Amino acid sequence: TESRVINFGAGPSALPVPVLEEAAQGLLNFNGTGIGIAEISHRSKEFSAYIASVEAQIRTQLAVPPTHSILFLQGGGTAQFSAVVLNMMARHRLLNPEMDDDERVMDYVLTGSWSKAAVHEAGRLAGGAKVNIAVDARTLSADGKSFDRIPPHDAYRFSKDPALIYYCENETVSGTQFSSDPTHPASFPFERLPGDKLLPLVADYSSSFMSRPIPRLADHAIVYAGAQKNLGPAGLTIAIVRQDCIVDVDAAARLGAVPVPTGLAYKSFAEQKNMPNTPPVFAVYVTGLVLKRNAELGGVQYYEELNRRKQEKVYGVLKEGEAKGLLKGHVQPGSGSSMNVVFNVIGEGAEARFLAGAEERGMKGLKGHRSVGGIRVSLYNAVTEEQVDTLVAYIREFLNQTP
Ligand code: PMP
Repeated sequence: TESRVINFGAGPSALPVPVLEEAAQGLLNFNGTGIGIAEISHRSKEFSAYIASVEAQIRTQLAVPPTHSILFLQGGGTAQFSAVVLNMMARHRLLNPEMDDDERVMDYVLTGSWSKAAVHEAGRLAGGAKVNIAVDARTLSADGKSFDRIPPHDAYRFSKDPALIYYCENETVSGTQFSSDPTHPASFPFERLPGDKLLPLVADYSSSFMSRPIPRLADHAIVYAGAQKNLGPAGLTIAIVRQDCIVDVDAAARLGAVPVPTGLAYKSFAEQKNMPNTPPVFAVYVTGLVLKRNAELGGVQYYEELNRRKQEKVYGVLKEGEAKGLLKGHVQPGSGSSMNVVFNVIGEGAEARFLAGAEERGMKGLKGHRSVGGIRVSLYNAVTEEQVDTLVAYIREFLNQTP
């Protein structure tokens, strides 16, 4: 492990070393079975018990209410862009069998490139329904085309009876995140949501899942996340789905809804204990190890505090750099992500110099996404406060050395 660098990558990202060491053992011999975790039958009693315990850990640590099921899916966030549309449109069909297709609508909150990708997929699968953009954060930016803020509550225009209302809680590329404080202007506008029925509210938590508690989880229809940021290896996707959204997609198809592939139908997973087919056994295993460690450390509350300190340190030094005219944050104050901090280094060749200096000091994964450029510091759970201190000291040194 001495040869390991500090990994600020956006995902897949750092995992805790003790977990990796235990997982290495598990690859050889899973829980004393004499069979490695990548080799053992997913139907074995040992693995069946293990996957049930992973589910129980998530339920406890995130306080998932009994109204919601926890599903272990595959295909990443990308498959969920499709699955949420197909399952929620099927639900809407069952609830409103007589409605014309062109009267159906899905509301999307557009705050960055990941919600944009979800909008695109909704358009492909809408089957005649309308995709309504409840708000486009770009229209609020200075140049009219940057995703640089979370919109204020009065900017949202929701439809009356949408099949789903979609938002991305943390935009990994642009570095904007909804505030978890309900009184903050950048919080999600729960009070503006339509109707008094069970809300069809869908949230992409891919890059913030398990980093802090989920505000108003009980009011969501679906919260989903790929495991590969805060939890484990890619391959496992977790969805917390309210039971009224686990619908009979075949009955809906008979009424004219788009047929839902078995691997995307929540019902298949809910009815077959998360194993309608072979689950990503290794990813489930490592996720379970991470959750066990989380529980020992103090759960999601522990990470909320740790991540807040990490975030404050990085935004703090960014502010110093801005005061000197050497750094420029991508995001408006108040809308910055606690997980992904995005900024530019000002000056000819300065960014390359910044990255080279970081690499020399054993810090990697800091280059921003190609669509935004600049620097992106990802502060997922496994990034330690000491590692953040090392980065902050380097940034300060960089600022002092720049003439
Ligand atoms: N949503 C968000 C917020 C993401 O960060 C990502 C991936 N980084 C995705 C969706 C897509 O997820 P996947 O690569 O697992 O399909």
